[in-house]
Amino acid sequence: PRWLEGANPSVLATVGVGDLVLLDPLSEESLLSNLRERFLHKEIYTYIGNVVISVNPYRQLPIYSAEMVEQYCNGNFYAMKPHIYAIAEDAYSSLRDRNRDQCILITGESGAGKTEASKLVMSYVAAVCSKGADVTKVKEQLLQSNPVLEAFGNAKTIRNNNSSRFGKYMDVEFDFKGEPLGGLISNYLLEKSRVVWHVKNERNFHIFYQLLAGASDPLLKRLKLQRDCRHHGYLGDENPRLPGMDDLLDAMRIIGFSEAEVMQLLEVTAVVLKLGDLQLSGQFQASGMDACVLRDICELIGLQESILEQALCSRTVEAKQEKVVTALSVAQGYFGRDALAKNIYSRLFDWLVTRINESIQVTAGERRKVMGVLDIYGFEIFQDNSFEQFIINYCNEKLQQIFILMTLKEEQEEYFREGIKWTPVTFFDNSIICDLIESGKGGILVLLDEECLRPGTVSAATFLAKLDQAFGSHEHYESRKSQSDRHITDTSLPSTCFRVHHYAGKVTYNATGFIEKNTDRLYRGLAQAMWQAKHTLLRSLFPDGDPKKASLKMPPTAGFQFKASINTLMKNLYSKNPNYIRCIKPNENQAPGQFTDELVRSQVRYLGLLENVRVRRAGYAYRQPYQPCLERYRLLSTHTWPRWTGTARDGVQALLSDLDIPPEELAYGHTKVFIRTPQTLFNLEERRRRRV
Ligand code: ADP
Ligand code: MG
Repeated sequence: PRWLEGANPSVLATVGVGDLVLLDPLSEESLLSNLRERFLHKEIYTYIGNVVISVNPYRQLPIYSAEMVEQYCNGNFYAMKPHIYAIAEDAYSSLRDRNRDQCILITGESGAGKTEASKLVMSYVAAVCSKGADVTKVKEQLLQSNPVLEAFGNAKTIRNNNSSRFGKYMDVEFDFKGEPLGGLISNYLLEKSRVVWHVKNERNFHIFYQLLAGASDPLLKRLKLQRDCRHHGYLGDENPRLPGMDDLLDAMRIIGFSEAEVMQLLEVTAVVLKLGDLQLSGQFQASGMDACVLRDICELIGLQESILEQALCSRTVEAKQEKVVTALSVAQGYFGRDALAKNIYSRLFDWLVTRINESIQVTAGERRKVMGVLDIYGFEIFQDNSFEQFIINYCNEKLQQIFILMTLKEEQEEYFREGIKWTPVTFFDNSIICDLIESGKGGILVLLDEECLRPGTVSAATFLAKLDQAFGSHEHYESRKSQSDRHITDTSLPSTCFRVHHYAGKVTYNATGFIEKNTDRLYRGLAQAMWQAKHTLLRSLFPDGDPKKASLKMPPTAGFQFKASINTLMKNLYSKNPNYIRCIKPNENQAPGQFTDELVRSQVRYLGLLENVRVRRAGYAYRQPYQPCLERYRLLSTHTWPRWTGTARDGVQALLSDLDIPPEELAYGHTKVFIRTPQTLFNLEERRRRRV
């Protein structure tokens, strides 16, 4: 990256060190206190080579102005402090000028600032590329996709008032001049359970509250909704303060939604809410239900009431050409109702992404350059970890793997270009953990799928037994059974759980619920009922409800689908030049100026920052092109001072050999000098300081 190639290591001339590669001595403790000191001086950005660490300031800092954009855009990095704009500029300019596809990977735990970072990158790129009218429309559409997806995909949680409950990857495509043409969004794993349930002090997805608070009276009436949240079963608390409905409607218009589409979208959203209001009654069987709500729902979607009622109260099983109708218990009825609400909502969300893509997608066939931005949940270790954490941590395991591979690959390529001998670096290779989870030959996900498809009684216990049999002696797997085989007594591991030793630490997963969440079952009758609705949008969400298409084959499981989309993502990322933004949350209170050591320490571990620094400086910690290096240090040598007439490379060699620096500290590449340890650089700086 260009900011490392300046004559003035501005990374030194700041609070602590601006680049952790120069940290001396290097330890978790020194890394942490460097971050702390900088943060307390409002320096929230720190580099590790070309990686930017960002510590959430939880306050508006005056560092994102148009003048700032201007400064970073002019590329005078050596005079500039570490900044997210530097990474955005570096990525954008090498895309434009060197024709290299880029990806920007943003990770960190919830509330660490990922989504804000992705918006800063996007707005930076929007600001520096051309301002022509046709480009403006594309830019507007790309930027406006954010508020729409946030309305439907974000919610208030304990950790973040505006927490994204889905992973997002967006490819922005540019023409050869570097002007944006459009984009393509992929979404991952929406937390759909939130539709029907959320913990106390958290909320459902923003859209429900925005709709209730912001819709006009006639619109609310048309959607058959009550303005007060407390009248709706899935909401329950008061209306929070959120961006207005008008902004959302404007954003959808800019993207290109028609009035009719917006109305249909809101109707389906209303149906989800109304399902939560549908009370089922009956002593043992879900026989009766709230007639008014049922009628409202059916009117909204154009469906005969008896069809929905029957689908909610009974199940039809076909066996040997015979249809057997069984009545559902009340609990089963509610399970079906909630599954339907979750399914409608998550399919609606997928539709929304598809619809936005229709507007922003580039159709022309010219050769394009691509910048991908990934904003995805970081490693999660909670008190109680379930299937969702397992999937999220699997994703992070993959990201860590690709991170190490790409960092090493990039280093190796630079050494090769510069003609310097590469010495292999030892690092922790997490392939073994990735394999444990995803291997096609009996990884945990495959075993889970087998268990989900197996006829007969399956349960968390049978699943766990299967894992034990396969991985009892795997060094990254643990359970009660495998412990007792190894004569370990550890009561902290409950018998219903298994533990995976991730690169970031050990996580105990509760096997209960894995099978249900992986199967993600929706009674077929409910899908078929939705398919019979006249509402075109709703109906289109349930192609599997078409009885002609209904096959006996199970639909792909959640784990299977996630694995497929993660692997597509990895291939995509691997083909691009990576840029990393690692976000850190400084405290649990969403408060400015507070830095909680223990909290940050755990994130430093989850993000593998120490390993990152180690890999970065495994060979040579610092490198500089010859010319600026000569200019900066030539006053240290009589040979090169005051003028040097030869090549810069010879000049630097003459200069450094005068200073008796141990030869193994230096390597001379084709265009750059490489310095092995930070001390040598400090030493040079110190000598220079004494001279000037
Ligand atoms: P994440 O996506 O990692 O969960 P967000 O990007 O939503 O986290 O950030 C959470 C909150 O932190 C934001 O709503 C904002 O208030 C604050 N925040 C994050 N980054 C910044 C920043 N660079 N400057 C000021 N506030 C920020
Ligand atoms: Mg987010």
